[in-house]
Amino acid sequence: MIKEKVDVLVIGAGPAGTVAASIVHQAGYSVKIVEKQTFPRFVIGESLLPRCMEALDEAKFLDAVRAAGFQEKGGAKFEKNGKICDYSFAEAFTPGWTWTWQVPRAEFDKILADTVASMGVPVAYETTVTGIEFLPDHSSVTTVVDASGESSVISARFIIDGSGYGRVIPRLFGLDKPSSLPPRKAMFCHLKDPRRAAADEPNRITIVVHEHGVWIWIIPFSNGNTSVGFVGDPAFFDRMAAGATGGAAGQGAQGADAAGALAENGAAPSPDALMRALIASQPYIASRLEGVDFIWEPRTLQSWSSTTDRFFGDGFVLTGNVTEFLDPVFSSGVTLATVSSQMAAHLVIRTLRGETVDWTKEYTEPMMQGVNTFRTYVNTWYEGVLDTIFFADDQDPLVKSQICSVLAGYVWDLENPYVKNHATALYKLEAIIQFRDTHRKKTAVE
Ligand code: FAD
Repeated sequence: MIKEKVDVLVIGAGPAGTVAASIVHQAGYSVKIVEKQTFPRFVIGESLLPRCMEALDEAKFLDAVRAAGFQEKGGAKFEKNGKICDYSFAEAFTPGWTWTWQVPRAEFDKILADTVASMGVPVAYETTVTGIEFLPDHSSVTTVVDASGESSVISARFIIDGSGYGRVIPRLFGLDKPSSLPPRKAMFCHLKDPRRAAADEPNRITIVVHEHGVWIWIIPFSNGNTSVGFVGDPAFFDRMAAGATGGAAGQGAQGADAAGALAENGAAPSPDALMRALIASQPYIASRLEGVDFIWEPRTLQSWSSTTDRFFGDGFVLTGNVTEFLDPVFSSGVTLATVSSQMAAHLVIRTLRGETVDWTKEYTEPMMQGVNTFRTYVNTWYEGVLDTIFFADDQDPLVKSQICSVLAGYVWDLENPYVKNHATALYKLEAIIQFRDTHRKKTAVE
């Protein structure tokens, strides 16, 4: 059996794994990445946030990503029943990057992995971690299996687990915990978007409120294709597939009827037919996307939220999606993945140097500060609180810039009251807007 020895073993070559590997490698330690799949590989999560640019910069990935010519993104636009609320990251309260990219992840992740490999970090593809043993001195012996079924072992002084939805260490050591969020489902595809110019500016993610608890992402890419996804309660998709008109009430029952007609013919609608029915049911995209070509058959994902008991242990740290993934609505995934890896990499370097690290204070607590801020925004989004705020008339520019900062990923800026007091500030703002609107209506009647 082949035996290898490295300072740091990184599991997963996604954004979490590659950012961590690059930073530890730059500090002079030997690093190896093991990755289950071959790249390019599909993964969802295409709209980045400006805050992740700091991590990509420190990992020395920006030049390679810039050279790929991805679509630049300067903000986020929300639409509901014809009303628009636009957030430009240039107006964010927190100083920092004001733009980022929208990326087909297969290409983006391959660029990160190729760049880290070109720096001298070996990336072993089609190599799956199947077992890990931690030794009394906190070093570890990891068993991996390659594409030919051959097993080998890698000894490491430290493991960074960036295995995303694979959740390697939580699964091997029983650390998984159910998420506090209810299960949600997404149906999405990449499509050719020849009529884009007439609708959305490409340098935005557009989020459309479809009905209470159901929303749509529209993420234009620079290659003329666009990513479109519907997200909501799984029952919404069942209703649409069954052709129940109630689900699309007020938004155009056309799509539900189309899916229902297919269902009546004896079979559940195909993913293609259901996606076309969903698109047809939303006036904001129906005519723009009618009859467009799908690049691949629409896919579904469900119940992605997950968390774990702990983010670190003797000889390992979890980064990226393995720690906690909430919900796609504010595009927080890659930002949390890269920032957690950036933070963890520095703590791993200090540990390897023999320094004492307080992992709870220096890693778990700051990460949870960011995750919990996004959690409040996710919850208030599904509760409808953010609808009231986003689509209010006469928005206060300072408040708008503070909320914009969160949407840009600056969830660690405690100078921002909409970060520091996230648990209460949005509810208070909603109450003020509702009071003002009621007062205005009363005054108008009088
Ligand atoms: P990944 O990108 O998943 O990479 C982990 C890697 O580990 C994979 O390549 C995998 O093959 C490898 N691996 C797994 N198991 C093993 C093993 N046993 N051995 C070796 N390797 C292994 N985020 C955004 O920022 N913006 C968005 O717009 C967005 N939209 C989303 C929409 C939906 C519907 C969902 C569900 C998520 C979305 N996300 C979005 C979240 C995003 O997908 C993730 O947060 C992001 O990919 C996390 O990166 P990562 O590096 O942690 O994991």
